[in-house]
Order: sequence, then C-alpha cells, then structure tokens
Amino acid sequence: MQTLRIVPDLRSSVVEEMPATQALLFTSRRADADPALLADPRVAPFTPRRLLTALRDRELAVLEVAEPLWTGEWVRALRWIALAKLRRPRITVATYAIENLDARARLAPRSLGHRPVLGAAATRLAVLGMGVSVLLALDAVVFGTSGAAENYRRAFGWALRGTRQTVLTPRLSACSVCGPRVDGGTPRERTVLFLGTPSERKGFAVLTAAWEHAGSVDRGWRLVVADPSGATDRPVPTGVSIVADPPRATVHALLRAAAVVAMPSVRRPGWREQIGLPLVEGLTHGCRVVTTTETGLADDLRDHPRVVLTAPGDVADLAAGLRRAMDAADTADTDHADHAADTDAEQVGPRGATKTDVVAWWLEGALV
Ligand SMILES: [Zn+2]
Repeated sequence: MQTLRIVPDLRSSVVEEMPATQALLFTSRRADADPALLADPRVAPFTPRRLLTALRDRELAVLEVAEPLWTGEWVRALRWIALAKLRRPRITVATYAIENLDARARLAPRSLGHRPVLGAAATRLAVLGMGVSVLLALDAVVFGTSGAAENYRRAFGWALRGTRQTVLTPRLSACSVCGPRVDGGTPRERTVLFLGTPSERKGFAVLTAAWEHAGSVDRGWRLVVADPSGATDRPVPTGVSIVADPPRATVHALLRAAAVVAMPSVRRPGWREQIGLPLVEGLTHGCRVVTTTETGLADDLRDHPRVVLTAPGDVADLAAGLRRAMDAADTADTDHADHAADTDAEQVGPRGATKTDVVAWWLEGALV
C-alpha cells in the first residue's frame, strides 16, 4: 500500500471513497458505519502492531493522520508519527483539514471560561504548542474548504511555512457509489431530505419551523428525515416522516430520489459545521441543497447553481430558501432546458477533488 490512513470516527463514506492504494486503520467508529463496508480487507481496527507491520511495506510513502484541530486525536497521532519517523525517516506525514471553528476558540480551555485573563494566556500557550507540533510533525496538508485554510493560516501561518499545502474542495459532480447523475431521467420526488441526527446544532428545530412557515405541505412537498440514531418517537409536524437507521444503500436511494437536501447547521459553543456530509452527498446526487453560511464551503459554493445559502438560525430566511429550492425543482421538472443551464453552470464552478485526487497530490510530493 502506498498510503496508510489512521482515521478516527470511521463512517461508511470514508470506506466508500478510499483509493485502491490505501489502507485504513481506524481508532474509533461511528455506530451507523455500515458493517458490510468494514469487511473490506484493507480496513482494520488500529493497533500499534498493525502500524508497525504497515511501516515495513517498502511501497508506503504517505501516512495520513487526523487534522491537528481534532485535538485529542492529534495528540495521540503525534506518538504514531514519532514512531513512523523513527522507522521511516523519509515518510510524508499528511493531513486533510476541514476545521472551521476559529482555532483559538477551538483551543480555549472551557474550564477557564470564567477567568478571562488566565483563559487568554492558556489559549495563547495552547496555540503556540499546537503550532510547534504542526511545524515538527506535518509535511503536507490539503485543506478541504477555503474556510479551513483561512482558519489554519490565521492561527498557524508561521508553523505551516515549510509545509506543502493546497486547497482542494470536494468533488460535487458525481457520487463515487452511484456514478454520475443522468439528467432528463426519472423526475425527482417532491421531497426535502434531512440526513443525520435531528439535533440542535444541525438546525432541526429551525428546519421544522421553516418547513411549516414555507407552507411546504400545501405545495405538495414532504420532508424525510434519515435518522441514524433510530429514534422514531420524535414529535414531528405534518408532512414529515422519519426513516430510522437506514442502511447505506437506502441512503443512496433516498438521495437519488429527493429533489432537495436541507442542512441548516447552526453554530454552538465549541462547534461549527466543517463541510457537512449531507451537503456534499446532496450535490453529488444532483439534489438542490439548502444550507447556512456556517459551512466552511460557504465561500466556495456562493455561486453554485444548486445551492441556496441562508442565515443560520433564521426561520424566515430558511423558509424563503426552502421555497426557492422547491420552486426551482418544480420548474426544472416541467422545463428540461433548465437541466442544460444547470450543467453549464456547474462546469464553470470548481471541478473539485475526490479522496483519490487528494492522495495523488500527497504522493506527488512524497520523497520515498
Ligand atoms: Zn450514491
């Protein structure tokens, strides 16, 4: 294997997108990760022994670890990086970074929230410490969004000066499992899809309020919630249904059928939307996406013809955004010329990168 990825919080999409020359060792996994995908022989739970075995592979050129601002995981990764550098001094240590919450806010010790002077000093020290670890440990970084690149460069610009770096936003034109979408095929259902646990930070309360405010049911639309937590006893408004803990095949089918995906993320203390997988998955399946300016991709997507950006936590603005997306989908169904217009506009936008493209960029600069 040319690259080894040590990945925390393994989810189904990580296995779906992995390049052929990559092996994965996962340190933790999501409860909703599809067990069928984890049967892949290149995927295994992390152990130091497995890492040592992988390091003996002469082909191995790149070790990918979690991004620095995933702090707990980064601190653990530093040990594995040290081990790897000891065994293979010329190995390239790389990361894919998408953290969008301001680095200083991310590193501020919450226990010192009530002591501002001490808290500010501790934050400065934490930023400095992380900067030094970045300087010593990281050879290459790909930023997944412009928001993440700005965030890291603002806090650790000095530490990243010697690090090979670029911004490669995700490819949004085709699902790696379903393939490119076919325009003019089966018409989309008048469905708005919400993917994920209906939590406050994912804006679910705002969405249900906006759903009613937009008069969606009277327009003949329904809202489907694909909830990996499997809870079906949640009170929901008229026109809203829950699909509990859907397998990946069902998620792909829902995405191929729905006209609109909603991901109205809201910032919470200590958390800000990074990219938002539902946003990427919606666009790769040809859905329109209604989201908020909270995602790190907001600047990258401002002119995307299928994206509606709304103000986070704003019911009226989200309702207006839903109406725009539903109207556009209704018009597209009756006017096939719209498909051609969309396709042209998408070709103007950034082409975007798959995981394979990201890994190829790392390998280009690898020394071994
Ligand atoms: Zn798909």
